[in-house]
Amino acid sequence: MNEYDSNRIFDLTKKIDYLKTENLDEANCYVLNTCHIREKATDKVYHDIGRIKKKFRKKIKPIVLVTGCVAQAEGDILLKKEKYIDAVIGPQSFHLINKIILDIEKKQKTINFTEFDVIEKFDTLNSLKNSCNKISSFLTIQEGCNKFCKFCVVPYTRGAEYSRSIKEIIEEANQLVDNGSKEITLLGQNVNAYNFEGKKLSDLIFEISKINDLKRIRYTTSHPKDFTQDLIDAHKDCEKLMPLIHLPVQSGSNKILEAMNRKHTIEEYLRIIERLNKINSSIKFSSDFIIGYPGETLEDFKQTEQLIKKVKYINSYSFIFSARPGTPAFELEKINKSEAIKRLIIFQSIAEEIKIKYRESLIGNISNVLFENKTKDGNKYFGRDEYLNSVIVKSKESLVGKIKKVKIISGNHNTLYGEIDSFLSQNNYAA
Ligand code: SF4
Repeated sequence: MNEYDSNRIFDLTKKIDYLKTENLDEANCYVLNTCHIREKATDKVYHDIGRIKKKFRKKIKPIVLVTGCVAQAEGDILLKKEKYIDAVIGPQSFHLINKIILDIEKKQKTINFTEFDVIEKFDTLNSLKNSCNKISSFLTIQEGCNKFCKFCVVPYTRGAEYSRSIKEIIEEANQLVDNGSKEITLLGQNVNAYNFEGKKLSDLIFEISKINDLKRIRYTTSHPKDFTQDLIDAHKDCEKLMPLIHLPVQSGSNKILEAMNRKHTIEEYLRIIERLNKINSSIKFSSDFIIGYPGETLEDFKQTEQLIKKVKYINSYSFIFSARPGTPAFELEKINKSEAIKRLIIFQSIAEEIKIKYRESLIGNISNVLFENKTKDGNKYFGRDEYLNSVIVKSKESLVGKIKKVKIISGNHNTLYGEIDSFLSQNNYAA
């Protein structure tokens, strides 16, 4: 979502001639768009500002803005501690950025902009074309969360659930497709809680799928509680909907899920997976895990191990519990750190084993790959298959924006290498 927000910030600042630059030594303004999900984000802000200060020691100071969730959660502290920052702007206030920059140019005083103006924000953004011209682009459809998982900062930094109107979203999707996008990922902190005047995520998916030149639709991130039958059916009935579902579970233990206030049990979670696999057996899953949540016993952890072995996630994102200030879990007694690290290592080695086996099973298969760009290295093209695996092939013809059938020849941890189907007889390429 920060990538989407950053693009929209550039769409806004263009209006006052502040354009994106790769030349960091000459920038007039720095926008540090931050995430607060894990610790160290604030340290990174101070570190990055230190680097900017060094660059500009003998030059005119650039404008420095901190946007995003760190600004929302720790804005006052940042302003007090680091005088080099000109303003902090929360994720629901970045539509005000042009006024803030112009005020700072006029030497007006440093201000903290962290109101929740989500309706006003999208009203402002709707009046601006989305200029992102990537083959695969993001589109925010929903923000905020009402779930209040005990470890999570989102309800405090992004506010309550808000869904944009179908009309606004379709208009923006059309802009992205006109700019060349072939794939759109619908974004929301709680994307399947999308509800605009009774229209749900599945309704929106079917509407968007009517855009002819749009070839692929994805959505993230879902909450199991909101995974309703209509969304499951959409995976049967909408061909453009990709068969990879990111469905965070966080823990395999019902006791820990309850302690986290996740609002579902493992049995309910597994039933969703079962129903999805029943209607479409090609669907695969990825998930997020918190290892070492306060109160997690060895037995709870073993249940998480059993869960990943059962579901065989093709990607698992796992972290040791990170206590976020302001959340209810912040005050809880932590488990022993070296024990938590030990469990994380065990977890990640199991997840890795599952991933390696999965990737090995792809060798020799034909994958449908949407190509996004030419690599810097000769006539090679980078794309992604339906499961977001990175694939590289060699081709004399430009493949950008095309979906091709690719035979997977080899692969490493990050990338698969293949040959376009029609080239197989005459091309001996192997990476
Ligand atoms: S559902 Fe997701 S965004 Fe909402 S509180 Fe829980 S972890 Fe955070």
